[in-house]
Parts: sequence; structure tokens; C-alpha cells
Amino acid sequence: MADQIEAHPPQARRRGSSIRVRLMLLILLVTIPVSGERLVSLFNQRAERIADTEDTLHNIAVRAALAQQEAFASATAMLEVLSREAALLLREPAVCQRLTERLNGEVAGIQGLYFSTPEGRILCASSRSVVGMDISDKTYLARALASNQPVLSDLARGPSALAPLVLSKAERSDNGEPVAVVIVGLDLQWLSRIAAETGAAAGVTVDVIDAQGTVLVRYPNNGDIVGRNFAGAPLVQATAERDEGNVHVPGLDGVLRYVAFARFAGTDARLVVGMDDASILDPIDREILSSIVLHLSVLAVVLLVTWYVADRLVVQPIRRLAADISALGEGDGGNYGLKLDALADVGVQEFAPLVKAFSDLGLRLTERTSALQTLNGRLAALASTDGLTGLANRRTFDVQLSEDWVRSRDDARPLGVIMIDVDSFKLYNDALGHLAGDDALRAVARIMLAAVAGTPYLVARYGGEEFVVLLPGADLEAAREVAEDIRRLVMSLGIVHPGVAIRRLTVSAGVASTVPGNGQSPDGLLAAADLALYEAKGKGRNLVMTHVGPPAH
Ligand code: GH3
Ligand code: MG
Ligand code: MG
Repeated sequence: MADQIEAHPPQARRRGSSIRVRLMLLILLVTIPVSGERLVSLFNQRAERIADTEDTLHNIAVRAALAQQEAFASATAMLEVLSREAALLLREPAVCQRLTERLNGEVAGIQGLYFSTPEGRILCASSRSVVGMDISDKTYLARALASNQPVLSDLARGPSALAPLVLSKAERSDNGEPVAVVIVGLDLQWLSRIAAETGAAAGVTVDVIDAQGTVLVRYPNNGDIVGRNFAGAPLVQATAERDEGNVHVPGLDGVLRYVAFARFAGTDARLVVGMDDASILDPIDREILSSIVLHLSVLAVVLLVTWYVADRLVVQPIRRLAADISALGEGDGGNYGLKLDALADVGVQEFAPLVKAFSDLGLRLTERTSALQTLNGRLAALASTDGLTGLANRRTFDVQLSEDWVRSRDDARPLGVIMIDVDSFKLYNDALGHLAGDDALRAVARIMLAAVAGTPYLVARYGGEEFVVLLPGADLEAAREVAEDIRRLVMSLGIVHPGVAIRRLTVSAGVASTVPGNGQSPDGLLAAADLALYEAKGKGRNLVMTHVGPPAH
């Protein structure tokens, strides 16, 4: 039944989309907004998370910078005090030593006090172990000597790690010559506080970068970054533009980060707090991905189920209906109503009018077909029989003769023919009239049919008052016997013929028979019978003559 659907012309299939595709589009129309909403909400959450992170980082940076500002203020004040006493302290190293040790413990935010010669030798320090140490190679020393302001820099890279971050200032004589350099180490407690606040989260970095782009402090201090200059790095450039803000740039290690920064008041150094993209977004990105996968999977399952259900509940009933309608069209012995039960069985409510319409169509088709069949039967009979006698007509005889000829030849069996002609029939008509003649012809026809009843022989009206009998399987003798029967029976009818001496209507017959073979033809057989008939007429009529020997053609 599916084949009948598939067999429809291609243009019929291309027109419009299938019911299944339409249903699936419907499902998509329903599901896409739901899935879309969920995805949009996840993406919103992602954006919120970025914004939250930026806020948090920004707060941390600003608060840390403020905290540092306090330490920075203490350190600056300390520098002032020590600068004022610089001349004395240079002369009295012991005093210097005591003072630095004492002040170091008393002032919050300070971690280490150092006095150095302009050449870079530490004269006294809060930590005795560094006294005499050479710091001539330190950049902060050179920078302090080059400036009239306190400069911020680190000592972390020095051999004894004096302090992670220092503020240094050169003391000058009246003529401007540097006489000493005072160095104050800054307490970096705030740095560990930030680390605690961020929960020491993976991916969090804290940097202190000076005005030249040199990294003074870094948390976590892994890798070779502290002390190096990153003046060209996007992070340094982006954070140098404003006092505070947020940027999204590659960090000093090249990893992309959300970054908040704030400038240390009174300096160009800034604090940079960053968190890498992966730490912020990996969880939500994973959630988005799994949500997409989940929605797609559910959608795929729903679409598959829709396809299957639509096939079972819609397409197959339509195919069954189509098959039943096709079967209906083929009919069953002319009865187109027989398949109606099957039509009613489709089981889809909406098809009921269709089924009803086709049922009615089937009934009407049955009626019309039976009317047509009756008519056809009549027409066929009319075409094959003779109107006057009801016998087979000449056309039917010719068709039958050629069929029997071939069959007899193949079976090597004899085929007999009798030509019969009513004797002196013109005189009969002349004497009794044409209508009486017709009656006589009908009577002769009936008696001939009676003569061959129960045999496979065919009696036909050959034309006018001539008849012919076709006798498959009859040799010359058998055919002659039939001819003789007919002749006798006609005479026994006792139809009065006033125009002849015998006063009876009689017939003459010529008989021929042959086993059809090469060089012979049906026409030859007929001609032979006709010749015998001619002979019978010549010999006085009411006679049966046979043609002996093979037919002429
Ligand atoms: P023969 O014995 O030699 O056959 O003589 P015949 O008179 O029968 O032969 P002929 O051929 O001279 O005449 C045949 C006649 O048959 C002429 C025609 O009027 C008549 N006839 C032919 N068909 C019909 C018919 O359908 N009805 C009637 N009433 N007469 C017919
Ligand atoms: Mg004749
Ligand atoms: Mg005749």
C-alpha cells in the first residue's frame, strides 16, 4: 500500500511539506522559546557574574589602596622625622642604630628603617644583620638619589629581603649634594588581608606596579615577575590611564583576566587585583554547555517521538485509507461497495466525512458499473450475433474459424465446415412474401441449433439465406453426418414451399474437412465446402455433397 503512495507523480510529492515535518515545526515553535529563555537567563547570569566579579575586585583594590595609604602616610611621616635628624644620625651611628630599632617597633605600618650612604653602604638599620650591607646596585637607591621626593620601590629582590616594598628619600646638604638615603620599609599586612578576602582563590593575582611599570610586589609570588619592567604590557598601559577602574586584559603572565586597579595616593604606583576568566566563568560556562546539551537531547527525543507518533496516528491511517480507496477503485467483480467496511475501519474521526464520501462513491460506482456491464453485454451480443436469427454472425464465425484453424493445426486434428443454402428461396419469397421468408429463415436457424446442441460446433448465418457450421474435431464423415441431419430436420419441419415440385422448404449442403497444414488456409476450406454446395445445387438440391481431397488453397 505504501508503494501506491510512493508511486504518485513527483510533482504531487513535492507540493507542500509532509504532516510529520509540520508537526515537528510546531514542536520547535513551542520548545524554542522555552529553551531560549533558559539560555538567555544563563547568559544573563554569566554577565552578572562578570559584573559582580568586577565589582568585588574593584572594592578590594580600592580598600587595599586606602589601607596602604595609611601605611604610606606613616612611612612618609617617618621619613620626615628621620630626614630632620639625618646630620646627627650620620655622625652618631650608635644613636642611629638605637633610634631605628626603637621607631621600627613603635610605628604601625612600618617594617624596617635603614640609613645608607649615597654610595650605597648601610650605616645603621632596624635590623642589625644588614648594617654594612652594600645596596649600591639597587634601583631604588639610584632613583632616590635622582629625585627630591620620596620614591616607592621594592627591596624584595635584594639578598636579604629587607622588605617587600620601601619608600626611600635622599637627604641633601645645603648645596644639594646627597649626604644620605633614608629608607622605610612598608608593612604589607594588607596584602595578606587581600589574599584572605579573596579566599586565596585560584586565579586571583595582586600586583603593585610602580610608575615606570616595574612590578614591586606580586601575590602569589610565583614565577620571575617581581622586579621586572612591564612598561609595554597591556595591563600596565591600561591601568596607568586612570586612578582606578576595571579592565579586561591579558595579565603579566599572558592569561586573560578581569582586573580592578587603584592608585596609591601620593604616588604613581598602583595596586592591581585580577582574576582569570577561567576561574570566574568556567562553572557557568559548563552549566550553559550542559544546558544546551540537555535541551538539544530533549528536543531530539521529542522530535523522534513526534515523528513516530505522527507516522502511527496520521500517516499510516492515511496510507490505509489511500490503499482502501485504491482497492475500491479496482472493485471486486464489479462490486465497489465491498471494501466499505475497511474504509470505515481507519479510526480517525476527521476522516469520517472522507470515508462517507468514498463509501457513497463506491455505491454509485457499483450501480453504474452494473448498468454498464449490462449494456456492454448487450452491445457485445449485438456485435457478434445476427439480428434476424439470433445465430452467430459472419464476423464471429470468421474469428472462430481462424482460432479453430490454428488450434486444429497445432493439435493435428481435423476441422470441418458445412455450407448450407436454402433452396429456391427467391421463389419462396416471391410466393409467400418477405416476412414469411424471414420466419422460414428463423425456423431453419432454430433447427440447425438443435442439430448441433451439446457439441462444440458453431452455427452461423453466413449471409442472406446461407448458413455455415464450423466443426472442430470433425472429419469429413462426421461433418457430413451433421449436414445430413440438418438437411433431414429442415425437411421434416414441413414448411410448405409453393414454388417447388416437392412442395417443401429444403436446404442443400456442401461439406469439407481437413487437418490444417502447410499450404492450406481457412479460405481454402470454405471454398471447398462452397464447391461441394454448388455441386449439391447442380445435382438437384435438398442434397449433401462432400468435397473429397485437400482444399484448393
Ligand atoms: P438456389 O436454390 O439456387 O439457392 O436459388 P435461390 O432462389 O435460393 O437463390 P438466389 O440467390 O437466386 O436467391 C436468394 C434469395 O434469398 C433472394 C433474396 O430475396 C432471399 N433472401 C436473402 N436474404 C433474405 C432475408 O433475410 N429475408 C428474406 N425473406 N429473403 C431473403
Ligand atoms: Mg444463395
Ligand atoms: Mg438459395
